[in-house]
Amino acid sequence: MSTGEPYEIPTDGEPIRWEHNAFQVPDHPIIPFIEGDGTGPDIWRATVRAVDAAVAHAYSGRRGIAWMEVLAGEKAYKRTGQWLPEATLEAARRYRISIKGPLTTPVGGGIRSLNVTLRQELDLYACVRPIRYIAGVPSPMREAEKVDMVVFRENTEDVYTGIEWQAGSEDARRLAAFITEELKKPVSPDAGIGVKPMTRRGSQRLVRAAIEYALHNRRRSVTLMHKGNIMKFTEGAFREWGYELAREEYADRVVTEDELWERYDGKMPAGRLLLKDRIADIMFQQVLLRPTEYDVIATPNLNGDYISDGLAAQVGGVGMAPGANMSDGIAMFEATHGTAPKYADLDKVNPSSLMLSAVMMLQHMGWNEAADALYAAMAAAIQQKTVTYDLARLMTDATEVKTSEFADAVIRQLG
Ligand code: NAP
Repeated sequence: MSTGEPYEIPTDGEPIRWEHNAFQVPDHPIIPFIEGDGTGPDIWRATVRAVDAAVAHAYSGRRGIAWMEVLAGEKAYKRTGQWLPEATLEAARRYRISIKGPLTTPVGGGIRSLNVTLRQELDLYACVRPIRYIAGVPSPMREAEKVDMVVFRENTEDVYTGIEWQAGSEDARRLAAFITEELKKPVSPDAGIGVKPMTRRGSQRLVRAAIEYALHNRRRSVTLMHKGNIMKFTEGAFREWGYELAREEYADRVVTEDELWERYDGKMPAGRLLLKDRIADIMFQQVLLRPTEYDVIATPNLNGDYISDGLAAQVGGVGMAPGANMSDGIAMFEATHGTAPKYADLDKVNPSSLMLSAVMMLQHMGWNEAADALYAAMAAAIQQKTVTYDLARLMTDATEVKTSEFADAVIRQLG
């Protein structure tokens, strides 16, 4: 089994390859998984059973996943003394598609966040979050079924680069003095200071990924969500660079809102994608008031963080929200909530976020039959009101089940 690697490589699988700008997936791909901390092992155990059952149901043994555990978080720290061993990063690079549960953010120890480190080390520049309503899930919306959006959040730039100085520190004071005296922009000497770097390359590769996704999946529009009216050279530049990219690379496939009225009298030409932009604050109103007008959303890091969770709430909260972090050639699918440590090992929490992320993963692999089967089985279990505590407390007449029992219910639906 072991070949001297720091993880055990399954002998019954092969690596996924990246060729001609696409994943080449063998029938028995090796897929690394990180089970995660806190409630991670509970939701992972449930998810892996449901995924294997969906794949078996769809392909009758012709295809199957060779799972390979790799370590991160508390389990890694206990076994190796490192929170994020290099071998784990190497496995994500080498095997290309992986999946993870939530990870504790270590307090102290020099790592700000394992998730942010993973994204930066692997240059996973797009955080992709589909937000789609499953009938029966309790939602604060009257017509939650109208919500069907996919957020592409830039993952590597913006205020998340963590370049900041504490108020009162020597560096903050020096920087305030430099900005005030040399750059002639007054900054109070007692200010805390953060930096928001954003580049044309970083913005355009994110917008490109969103446009490619929208074209490939026949979505209607991509909206650039920004706060460019205030932050002109960062968020405003994101908007400009987005339109520039569309002009340079997608002129024959994308129509901007201005062009729609100037050239097409407001009627969208067939087969084209609409590119528009909205200021972030109004966007938060519009996704609530007129959700059908929004489809794919491309946005810088901080806006993306807020809008992803805001939209997730509209369809039932983070317990139901899937996600992935991607670059060209590496994709890591993940539960979008945290480790919910107070419920660890209680077999209690909702595994749907990780299961829906596995649905995304199967779609990404081109295993659409298994993805559709798993999604339909989850939807059927939820419609029958067989749900975990978080949904049960918001529903009438629900049967509250444990994490593992929800997986059982999904597997029963697969027949
Ligand atoms: P959290 O773990 O997401 O939990 C907050 C609350 O959300 C829980 O108490 C629970 O609410 C609900 N919840 C979360 N997951 C759920 C699930 N699967 N099913 C049902 N309900 C769920 O957030 P946190 O307590 O702020 O963070 C805990 C740790 O997770 C921290 O170390 C944080 O850094 C880390 N974290 C990791 C990730 C990641 O790995 N992607 C993301 C966020 C946070 P109720 O108690 O009200 O039922």
